[in-house]
This record gives sequence, structure tokens and C-alpha cells, in this order.
Amino acid sequence: MTDTPTAIIDAQPVTGSGTPFDVVDPASEEVIATIPGAEDALVDRAVTSARAAFEKGDWRLLPVADKQKVLRDSADAIDAAADDIADIECANTGLPYHQVRGRQVGRAADNFRFFADYIGQMTAELYEQEANYLTYVRREPLGVAGLISPWNSPLALGSMKIASAIAFGNSCVIKPAEQAPLGLTMMTQVMQGAGLPPGVVNLVNGLGVESGDRLVRHPLIDGVSFTGGTRTGKIIMEAAGAMLKPSVMELGGKSANIIFDDADFEQAVDGALVGIFTNNGQQCLAGSRILVQRGIYDRFVEAFVARAKKVRVGHPREATTEVGPLMTKAHYDHVMSFVPAAEDAGARILVGGGRAEGFERGYYFQPTIVEVDSNTHRLCQEEIFGPFAAIMPFDTAEEAWAIANESRFGLVSYIWSQDIAKIMEGQERIFAGTVWCNTPMIRDLHAPFGGYRESGVGAEGGRAAEAFYTRQKTVSIPR
Ligand code: NAD
Repeated sequence: MTDTPTAIIDAQPVTGSGTPFDVVDPASEEVIATIPGAEDALVDRAVTSARAAFEKGDWRLLPVADKQKVLRDSADAIDAAADDIADIECANTGLPYHQVRGRQVGRAADNFRFFADYIGQMTAELYEQEANYLTYVRREPLGVAGLISPWNSPLALGSMKIASAIAFGNSCVIKPAEQAPLGLTMMTQVMQGAGLPPGVVNLVNGLGVESGDRLVRHPLIDGVSFTGGTRTGKIIMEAAGAMLKPSVMELGGKSANIIFDDADFEQAVDGALVGIFTNNGQQCLAGSRILVQRGIYDRFVEAFVARAKKVRVGHPREATTEVGPLMTKAHYDHVMSFVPAAEDAGARILVGGGRAEGFERGYYFQPTIVEVDSNTHRLCQEEIFGPFAAIMPFDTAEEAWAIANESRFGLVSYIWSQDIAKIMEGQERIFAGTVWCNTPMIRDLHAPFGGYRESGVGAEGGRAAEAFYTRQKTVSIPR
């Protein structure tokens, strides 16, 4: 059992008295922590502490160079604790250890380094239209940010929120997902020793409907950054909107992965595998609708299915594991529910479609590919959020764009083709916040990452973060 506090307030661990919740290792199904949730009074304390730190100004008013040093020291502190953070994160999430240690923890540290660099490059507007006056526009922090993160990539996503909030001078309170709070809580504890004034980064653990809801509605929270499901996003945005708080919503996806006859075949097969099976298939940006042009369809399906059969499902700690267990029993049941749905609709299960063999315990689900004949099928319209892809043929580019856009989501899209004209047409025609062309998942932190339609409102990264986490103040002064 791990000793994870309910909250970190003023840099100190605090135990709460709200509804306790179990944290389960999805590989063993064993409870590895039971954490009392943050009751209303504790959320109030965390927010009040963040507010006091903000108003005191030890962080907000610190010169940029000093802020940069603290952000870089925070990154170094995360790197120094990387083994411990990766251990606990792997046990909690079931993500393959090499993905957690190799990517997630490093990305967490890099998020702080990126924003340290970013704030050193910020510029301001200056106007001189009025003869005897200078008018300039300052960027000031928003205030206290309420940050709510999901369970699928706790470190990468949680650190992105904390780093971007504090880099612009805000204080914050983060609430990790109750299913996977251990790594992010450890990361937040580790950072406290890196020079941040107490209260600038506080954390509360607890159920979304309790601690999360309280955080969003707290009158001293100035803005909310949320990553999670679309349904939850609507609830939070409504609550924040009613209090005139700005919010940014990073929500679900059902992204099209479009593969043309003229694509580099091997690259496209690799890309499709990475697109659906990374992170145990639990990723918002998964290429979960695979559209393949008719001329290579049979050959592609054969190669893709053969490769999917070789994807190694295993314990997250094993070096050879490519796909580990799903996050929770409830999520396993959700993913499994799409198997009868597929069968009922006459879709053809090409590989997988059930519990992975050889495991007595754990929420292991087979890498699954289902051939569908219509994009209107539930398999193509709902987010499954597992190692579960739907595949279908198309004939013309026009048809591919239409299928890609026939969705309430619009997070990302992938296009594979060696014809630059086709790619340029696709990136214009597809309604999605990101289009990856002949590559899976490049995330340049300068660029905005956000969804169209029900995949989100606003974006994270670079200038999008600057716009969200700051407000503008106009100053005029005689020259
Ligand atoms: P979720 O919506 O169930 O929970 C996300 C967070 O919201 C958790 O911390 C939860 O405790 C909290 N929460 C729940 N109800 C709340 C309420 N009423 N008030 C305040 N907080 C509340 O999502 P999840 O199952 O943890 O995550 C999976 C979802 O996240 C998927 O839909 C996935 O696509 C999405 N996601 C999106 C992105 C992106 O960048 N667009 C990235 C990762 C995940």
C-alpha cells in the first residue's frame, strides 16, 4: 500500500475526511491505496492557500529569470525522481513501464522546461497613436487556476496544466483523476522542493463529483482547465460559465486515420498500429477509425491484422509488453460492451474481441480490429478508448473526407499519402484540431492542441496557453 496524501497544501501533505476511494493496480486488481477524498472544507483550504500565495505575489511578481530557474529546477527534480515516479505510475495505470519511464515522466519534466523557455520570449504590444502618450498592453496572470485531469496519461497531461498555469504567474489547484492519482501526486510533491513558494501549486485528491465539482464552483477559482470526457466537460463548462469563469476543454475523440492507395505501405501499417495501440489504446488522439482506400484495402487489412496478432499483451513491468491492462473494471466492461454491439450489427471481428488469454487477473483486453460497413455504426461514433479499432474501405478522397467528418468529435486526424496535393486538400477539408500527415502523433508544444466540435473548446500549448492563463491590461502613460 502506498502512502498518498489527500492533498498538498502550502507544500505540506494533508489527510482529508471526504469519501474515501480505492486505487487499484489494474494488472493485479489489488487495492494499492485507499485515499480519503478532499471534503469541501479541504478544497476550500487548498483554494484559499493558492489565492493567498497569488495575492502575496512571491511567485506572480517574481522576475522572469527567477521564474525560469524555478521551472527548470522543477523539471530537474522530476527527472531526479523519475524512477520512483515511473514505478508508482506504472503500478497505478497499467501503462507499460518503458512507455511511462521513457516518455511520460520525461514529457512531464519537458513541459516545465518548455514553458520556462516560452516566458523568456514573450513580447508586449505598444501603441503610439495618441500624440503625447504611450499605450502598452501587459499580460497578467489569470489568478488561481482550477486544473482537472484524466486518468489516461496523468503525468504528461497533469504536468502540462501545472507548468502552463504557473509559468504565466498563476497559482493553481490540481485535482488528479481518482482512478490514477498516485504518480501525479508524487510529482507534485517532488516539485515542492524546487523553489516554488508554498501555495502556488496545491493538489486535492477526491471524486470528481465531490472534490472536482467543489473546485470548479469555488468562487476564488478564476478559470478552469479540464481534460477528460465530453460529458463531464459539458457539466464543468456550464458550471464555470454560470460564474463567468473562462474554461478550456480538452475532450474525447474518434479520430479518422485515412490511408490512401499511394501511401508508403509499411509506414502506414506502423502508423496505424501506433495510432491505436499506444497507451493501451486509452488515448484521446487514437486513430480509432481506420479508413483504407479500396486499391490496397485487402492487402492492408491482411498486414495490419497479422501485425496486431503479434502485439504483445503483458504485465506492464515486462520489457516486452506493448499493451497492458485497461484502467479499471468499469472501463474494461465498457470496452467489452462493444464486442456484442459489433456482432449484433453484423460487423466482422478480424482479430481479438475479448479478454486477453493467459491472465488470471487483471483487466487485459485483446488488441481488437473490427471491419465495419458503415461509419454510422456505434463502433464508429462512440469513443471506445481501448485497443479497439474499426476499419473500413473508401473509394475517393471526397468520400474519405466525408467519412472523417461524419462525427460529433473533431480532435485529430491522420492522412497517409505520397501525393502532396491530396494531403493539402485533406488538411483543409477535415474538421479537426490537428492533422498528422504521414506521421503519428507529433506534439510540438509551441502549437495549439485542442479539438473541434465535441472534442473541445480552446487549446493547450504555446500561445494558446498564454492566451488562456493570462489577461490583458492596457496601460497609458504620458511620454
Ligand atoms: P472523466 O471526464 O470521467 O474525468 C476526468 C476528470 O474529471 C477526473 O479528474 C474526474 O474526477 C473529474 N470529474 C468528473 N466529474 C466531475 C465534475 N462533475 N466536476 C468536476 N470534475 C469532475 O474522464 P476520464 O475517464 O478520466 O478520461 C478519459 C477521457 O478523457 C476520454 O474521453 C479522453 O478522450 C479524454 N481525454 C482528452 C484529451 C484531450 O487532450 N482532448 C486527453 C486525454 C484524455
